[in-house]
Formats: sequence, structure tokens, C-alpha cells
Amino acid sequence: MSYKLIAMKRLFFFSGLVLLLASCGQQGGDVAGSSPVEAVNPLMGTASTFEFSHGNTYPAVALPWGLHAWSPQTGENGSGWMYTYADTLLRGFRQTHQPSPWINDYGTFSVMPLRGDVKTDDKSRGVSFSHANEQATPYCYRVTMDNGVKVALAPVTDGALMEVAWPDVEAQYMVVDAYGYGGTVSVDSVSGCVYGVSRYNNDNGGVPDNFGNYFVVAFDQPITGVGKEGDGLAYVKFDLQPGEKLTVRMASSFISFDQARLNFDRGPKSYSSLESAADNARQIWDELLGRVRIEGGTDEQRRVFYSCLYRTLLFPRRLTENDTLNEPIHYSPYDGQVHNGELYTDNGFWDTFRAVHPLFTLLYPEVSKEVLQSLWHTYEQSGFLPEWASPGHWGCMIGNNSLSIVTDAWLKGIRSVDADQMLEAMLHQTRARHADIASVGRDGYEWYDSLGYVPYPEVAEATAKTLEYAYADWCLARFAESIGRTDIAETYYEKAQNYRHLFYPEQGFVWAKDAKGRWRKDFDATEWGGPFTEGSSWHWTWSVLHDPEGLATLMGGHEAMEARLDSMFTAPNTYNYGTYGFVIHEIAEMVALDMGQYAHGNQPVQHAIYLYDYLGRPWKTQQHVREVMNRLYNSGPAGYCGDEDNGQTSAWYVFSALGFYPVCPGSGQYALGSPLFDKATLALPDGKSFVIRTEGNGPRCPYIRQAMLNGEELTRNYLTHEELLQGGELVLQMDSVPNTVRGAQAEDLPYSYSRR
Ligand code: CA
Repeated sequence: MSYKLIAMKRLFFFSGLVLLLASCGQQGGDVAGSSPVEAVNPLMGTASTFEFSHGNTYPAVALPWGLHAWSPQTGENGSGWMYTYADTLLRGFRQTHQPSPWINDYGTFSVMPLRGDVKTDDKSRGVSFSHANEQATPYCYRVTMDNGVKVALAPVTDGALMEVAWPDVEAQYMVVDAYGYGGTVSVDSVSGCVYGVSRYNNDNGGVPDNFGNYFVVAFDQPITGVGKEGDGLAYVKFDLQPGEKLTVRMASSFISFDQARLNFDRGPKSYSSLESAADNARQIWDELLGRVRIEGGTDEQRRVFYSCLYRTLLFPRRLTENDTLNEPIHYSPYDGQVHNGELYTDNGFWDTFRAVHPLFTLLYPEVSKEVLQSLWHTYEQSGFLPEWASPGHWGCMIGNNSLSIVTDAWLKGIRSVDADQMLEAMLHQTRARHADIASVGRDGYEWYDSLGYVPYPEVAEATAKTLEYAYADWCLARFAESIGRTDIAETYYEKAQNYRHLFYPEQGFVWAKDAKGRWRKDFDATEWGGPFTEGSSWHWTWSVLHDPEGLATLMGGHEAMEARLDSMFTAPNTYNYGTYGFVIHEIAEMVALDMGQYAHGNQPVQHAIYLYDYLGRPWKTQQHVREVMNRLYNSGPAGYCGDEDNGQTSAWYVFSALGFYPVCPGSGQYALGSPLFDKATLALPDGKSFVIRTEGNGPRCPYIRQAMLNGEELTRNYLTHEELLQGGELVLQMDSVPNTVRGAQAEDLPYSYSRR
């Protein structure tokens, strides 16, 4: 996402683009025989700026889906660019909940060990460091700063342990910073604890007035002095002897100080040392990452794969804490009350419905189960399902993609909510709009229901909304059908055809109509914004996830759609920045990656390569998907070709490297691509496993000559969720030349509503 939709106002600079693309330093070392977590580089994607994103990530030291994450901080307080690879100063070690720099953080605080003259504020306290002296893993971040102070940080449930060593006994102190915004910090020298509340929320996120993050920072060495700079900032002094280490234990709660103490006792206090905390976190990561075992491929491919899988498992954030009886409870950022049960947040469903949540349904269904409960709780507490939450409803992006998440999980047998209640919530999402936040509920639903499309310019981003609503309506219909509500299903299957109203036959692309049914003038497939969202017609025309066959018919048949897809990669990478008024970073990234109008750096088009499967031309999917994996990802700081976005751009790689992708969540199918590795073994929930094996694979052999599923020839261009869950083996003979016979028949094509 870019600044426009969240109303930031800054200047854009186009410079530095080529330089950034070229700088993709990578961690060295052989990772072939190591455990999965050792292949992860948390610095992947951190060489990003406001103007150009190579991921816009930060090196999260965290447990998967953890209540909090931790990160070194190089940017000043308030900057979404918390850690930028090119920066040279460390300003703190920060507890963070930030899902994206464009959204910024909430409830954040930091600690910063220092020496010498006391400097407390974030602008003056920065200490230089070098990447040669830092070591980042998901379970531990270590750095020796240029002033000789050594820091190590490891995550535990609801908190973290930190270890600090000073190079000499002089002037040792540590700053605790609650980031202003009415936050407080107080020091209890007797107990050796600092207590604080962070109320930071960057004036956004729609949180209630009582929002706060209550934190405890405890030291295992005597505090020998205290300084207080202001309400939200304090420092404490130490007198450690040479060779001594300070262990800091930190925990927090969104509920209360009492809950923070409980979290502290169960979390950080239960670890004897930083090493034991890091070891525990390493085991947790290895278990979860290890649900996919890969063999073959290069070290670099293995690094990219597990770095991407790590990113896929960081969000959404599980905001749930455990009460005195160890039952799940949560502070609601919607109504300010504490409720029983699960709540997840920090997710833009516009991004993550595509591949992140489908990956959970396959490999981490325990999370999908809780996410569904969380969706219901959000509806109960706020009157709407979430679309972009951080921690409360956010005005960002478009669509009703919560419906996709519910339907996809439900149809895959994850049924942790009441069906009738959920149907009511889903229907409501299509028939109402949040009073203050246009992106929650359905903006323009009155138009959509009366005209069959959202008109432009009456409604911003109207064509993108129409396309996403039509897919959401198909999801709702599938859900209703599965629980026997055929009346509702019929109505919504019909609405799901609404994408047709904005297909412009004269141009062969989707375009926009006003409320009187007149086509928008001056058609330009390269024009960004206006009726579209962070893309042009080149990107949005493909957003008919539930009915590629219907789209092909509109275009004039399979060959016409194939030619249109082909031309996306060969068209010049020109652009018209349209209503954005300047080159938003997504445009800059499309231009830089030099694949015509294909813009892998943003989400709307990320499924498009797989659409060749729907046209009986699977070898073109195989070729392009390999090219994207090889060219547009690397494990270094410049490792992504655009915003990573809560795991979505990573999950694309994870699925694609395995050889299949969920083009249409809710269909129960995965379109086949071109697996990267000799062998991948998926550990499925009930102890079964599914193996994807390739023979004759390699960089010059992206094409599938023959596919065998459990010993029988598979000519289809898709796998079903059931086939994967049953366990078994897919064996692919790879080739350097396309097999233009395999997968070309009508019965080989994946699901389309028009062909059902
Ligand atoms: Ca994006």
C-alpha cells in the first residue's frame, strides 16, 4: 500500500532506485544440512525507503503470531521505517506491533543500553553500528555496537529477555522510552523494575480512549541511579563489574498491570537466561517452519524459502492473553472491554486472503480455527467483520475479503464458529458501511446493488471495488450453499457475475462506468488510481478469481485471453500515474522489475501468472512462475520487489516454490506451477504427509513433462485440498521444453464458476 490511501503527505524522490536494486547482499554460509530456522534471514526486505520498497520489513525477533514482536530500531521515534538497512545508528530495542510502515506502530516502547554522557531522546542517543557486528535470527538478535556495548534479545511468550554487557564500568545506563503520547514510565529501584504504559498509536487505528500497553522491565542487577526526563521516558544506572552481564526481563499486556505481571511470571521470569529463552524460541520456529521439509535446490533458494515462510508466520498478531485460570481473554480495540476468547489483528485481508490464510488452512489449521473465532468476535464487538485491522478497524484498502477467509477455511472443514451467526455477519458486511471508515463493510453497496457495479467517479476506486465485491459475493454464495441456504446462494451467485458490467469490450480490459452507465472517457490501460486501487487496468483486469472462464469468454475466448496475458509481459513498462499525481512506490517498483506491465510488487496481479492454467496453457505458468522466483526474490536486504505485506508476497513464494498456488480461495483448488526443489514434504495436521518430488529439475528445466499423483498420471492443472490432506506423492518429470499437450484439455482446467 502507499501513502495515498492513508493520507500521509511527503515528497517523492525517484533517485536511488537502480542502486537499491543492485544492492542485495546476502548472508553467507552453507545452510543445506541445517535446521529450517537457521536458513532464515530476518534482514530480508529491510533495504527499503519511503520511495522504494524492497519489502518494507524489519528484523522481527518474535514468536510466530506473537502478542509482541521485537526489533532493533534505526529510525527515529514515529517513523514507520523502524529498521532500515542503510541506516548507521541504533536508537533502541523496541517492542513493536507494526504490521507495515504505512500503518505505523501502536503500544510500542523501547529500551536502549548506553554509556558515557547521558543522552536520552531518540534523536541524540543513537549509537553507530555495523552489519558485520550484528546477527539476526527469528529467535535472537545480537549486536555489538561501535561503543562496545553488547546486546542480545530473545522473544518469549508475551515478552522478551535481553542481555547487556558494557565494555567498562564507567557510566552505564539504560533508557526506557514509552514514546510520548501520554505514556508514562516509573522506576522502582527497590524491586529493580521499571513500570510503564505506552499509549502510542500514531493518532490512528481507531482505538478506544482507554487503550494502553502496560509493561514491566525487570533487571537482575541493582539499579544505582535513576533519572527521569519526562512522563514517557526514564533512565536507570548500573555499576556492573568487568565480565558481568545484565539480564533484562520484559513483558506487557494490553489489559492491565496485573495481567502484565501475570504475563511476566509465566513468560520472561520462567527463563533462567537469555540462552534458554532463545533456545526455546528456536525450537518453536523449527517445529513450525519444519512442517515443510525441502531437499535439493541451492542454498540461496533454501534461504529465500524459509525466510519467506518465517514472514508468513509473523502475522496476524494473536492479541489473546491468558487469565489467572489460563483461559484465553483479550482486550478489544473495538469496544475497550476485556472479553473471553481469541482475537487476532494486524492484518490487511486485501493482501493476506490471497495466499497467507490459505497456507494456514493447509499447514497451520489451528491458527485458521482461531482466526475464524476472532472474526466473529470482531463482528460482535464492532458490528463489522475486519478488513484491515491494527489493532482496531483501519481505513485502508478495499473489498470484503474477510468473506474469502471465512469461506475458504469453512469449506476446508475448519468450522470453529456458528454457521448461521457467521452468515449473518457476512451478509451484513455486504449491506452496510462503517459510519467513519469507508473500507469496513461495503463502500458503495447501494450503487452496487442497484446498478450491478460501483460507479466512477461517484465512488473512488469503484472498479476495483466492484471486482472484489463480485468475488466476495461468490464466497458468500459458496458458504451459504454449503449450509443449505440455497436461496441466499442463488442471489449471491448472481451478484458474483457483476464483474461483467465493467468489462469494456471495445478495449478488452476492465474499465469504469458512471452512474448513468457511460464508459469513462480516454481509455488508458496504463493509468493508475482513479477507478483502480494501486494499479491500472493491466493489473485489475485479472481480478476475477472465481471465474477466469467467464473473463476469457468476455475477452473472446481462451486464445484472446492468452494473448492478453502474453502482452502483459511484453508491453512497455510505461505508466500514467493518474489520480495519484506522482509516482507511488508501486509504480516505481513495476518499472524497475522490467517485466512489462506485470507488477509483482503489489498484490492485485500476483495470481495472474497462474491464469494460463485456466486456458490450457500450463507451460506458460511454469515458465513465468520460475522467472519470478528466480529474478524477483533473494534472501538479502533488497530481497523483495515491493511491499512484503504481512506475509502475502512471501506466501506467494512459499506456494510457488512448492509448485501450486491458491488462485481462488474458496474453490478448494490449487493451480499447478513449477516446483523449485527436488523434494518437498508437507507435514499435515493429522500426521499424514504429502510429498512433491521432481525429477530432472533445474534452472533450465521449469516445464512439467509428466505428472504422477500417487502413481497415476495427472493431466489436470490443479490439485485439490482433499488430495493434499489425504497425503500422498506428486512426482513431476521436469523438462527444458514445454509439453504443449499436457493440461490442455477442458477437463484439465481449474475451477471457474462459468464451467461448474
Ligand atoms: Ca501492497
